[in-house]
Amino acid sequence: MQAPSLGGVSVPRGDGKTVIRMRRGASLNELADKINANPASLITVLFHLGEMATATQSLDEDTFKLLGVELGYDVQVVSPEDEERELLGAFNIDLDAELEAEDEEDLTPRPPVVTVMGHVDHGKTKLLDAIRSEEVAEGEAGGITQHIGAYQVSTKHEGETRAITFVDTPGHEAFTAMRARGASVTDIAILVVAADDGVMPQTIEALNHAQAAGVPVVVAVNKVDKPEANPAKVRQQLTEYNLIAEEYGGETMFVDVSAKNGTNIDALLEAVLLTADAALDLRANPDKDARGVAIEAHLDKGRGPVATVLVQSGTMHVGDAIVAGSGHGRVRAMLDEHGDSVEQAGPSRPVMVLGLTSVPGAGDTFLVAPDDRTARQIAERREAASRAASLAKRRKRISLEDLNEALAAGKVDTLNLILKGDVSGSVEALEDALLKIDVGEEVDLRIIHRGVGAITQNDVNLATVDDAVIIGFNVRPAERVAELADREGVDMRFYSVIYQAIDDVESALKGMLKPEYVEAQLGTAEVREVFKSSKFGNVAGSLVRSGEIKRGTRSRVVRDGAVVGEADIAGLRRFKDDVTEVREGFECGINLGGFNNLEVGDVIETFEMREKPRV
Ligand code: GDP
Repeated sequence: MQAPSLGGVSVPRGDGKTVIRMRRGASLNELADKINANPASLITVLFHLGEMATATQSLDEDTFKLLGVELGYDVQVVSPEDEERELLGAFNIDLDAELEAEDEEDLTPRPPVVTVMGHVDHGKTKLLDAIRSEEVAEGEAGGITQHIGAYQVSTKHEGETRAITFVDTPGHEAFTAMRARGASVTDIAILVVAADDGVMPQTIEALNHAQAAGVPVVVAVNKVDKPEANPAKVRQQLTEYNLIAEEYGGETMFVDVSAKNGTNIDALLEAVLLTADAALDLRANPDKDARGVAIEAHLDKGRGPVATVLVQSGTMHVGDAIVAGSGHGRVRAMLDEHGDSVEQAGPSRPVMVLGLTSVPGAGDTFLVAPDDRTARQIAERREAASRAASLAKRRKRISLEDLNEALAAGKVDTLNLILKGDVSGSVEALEDALLKIDVGEEVDLRIIHRGVGAITQNDVNLATVDDAVIIGFNVRPAERVAELADREGVDMRFYSVIYQAIDDVESALKGMLKPEYVEAQLGTAEVREVFKSSKFGNVAGSLVRSGEIKRGTRSRVVRDGAVVGEADIAGLRRFKDDVTEVREGFECGINLGGFNNLEVGDVIETFEMREKPRV
């Protein structure tokens, strides 16, 4: 079937049901290929739908859906999970089938994996520290724990020693950034609420995120050492959000703790285990190639790319061929949170892995591949897919009108950013949060580069080329880089709190927003007589009815309530004198330049456009 004219072009039309599968980050070229259309005509159709794109540009899901509806196809954008499944399928790795094939007897219990969330300053970091040192105090692990992104503690529970794994990047931002990439790492969330502050906006946000992921919550009512602490109030406040304490007949365990004094931490760990046992079936098969998720990664000066991975099933051994995100390699060594080297890591065990070729992202899945070659090929395919996907993600839309204006003015209003952070988790959390800033359609926020490690000369060069601002999160510029940035006029900003970075970018964006203009009426004059002048054209002998009429201002001519034209006040006279303005109640002669369509009884309204302050 040939399409009716869609903005003047004809495009082969679907029946409204045919499913077209597009990978995330695909371009119009690919769609054109699949539906046998000319890419140029798709550009035109899209243009008439109010969007501009080139044939090779990555499009987001909404745009594909919109085009699909217009063209009569059911366009489905394949999720990263599906894509991953298809990718692995090409290498004969089918993780779903693998799980299904497992028998009851293959499965053994694994420790719960816990993420700590809550409002800023309610004590998440302190609590993670307290839990860690509780372990040391018990003398079981020995040695000081290092920050590798996750750690495991063991605790006595009903006469048994049980392990719990903590993800030690607190906050729901990182949690959700990982979920967005299809990684569900967390089994249980500890929601920290300061007893002296009560339920706050991010408490609810964190709770929503946990509930959206279907993760059971244990509430740690923190700072009970403070005299103004009111733990009962926290319990009461949370009932409004369907989190009802056990002692009030609900199902959620609330534990009063003081992260500062280390009080009641053992009870909190106990509550985590009780909740896990009651609500979850945490078992995995340890006897297969390891599968899991990278939770943190960075580039180490001496050791190269290091990634902390959480094994979710199977067991990883030194020497295994692995692929994590778009990095691959052989496991050269594995270190636990005490810096001790380990030979193998089973389910729920976080370990720092050395031997990868590049730094994976937080939330990237990892797996042990049958051999080095497969690992490399999977990594390459992932790299290609993620490049395409990130292009699509980075593009924030700009409305057509603004684009036109900006193009006309010779510049597009874009805030380009380069993000550098200490660990990939924080870079991703920051990127995610930044892209969520709502600045309307007029400004384009683009993250042109992101990375882990110090700010380098390369970053500054890139910023120079693309007029970008560099944001450093817990990192500083490398040697001589600050000088270079200064010389090139590159703005670098440093943060250690995500919210501050977001706040700053948000205000920068607001400042960059184009001013909105509103019309302000200046005056009106009634035409009493029309004189023809050979020199000036028509002159309206008028009486100023309100405000004042000023020379040079814009005016419109209104006849019987309808606008008949718009023109500048070209000439203004009182008697024989040229004047610049005439006030209410006075007579004057008005000449509208080339505009001569004037009749007795017309009203000339003058106005100007004034900038409206943004709120
Ligand atoms: P986060 O933003 O949630 O990670 O909060 P932090 O762990 O950084 O804690 C914020 C502030 O609260 C710090 O000054 C901590 O010392 C303090 N704090 C944390 N836990 C406690 C506690 O149990 N009692 C008291 N009095 N202060 C605490």
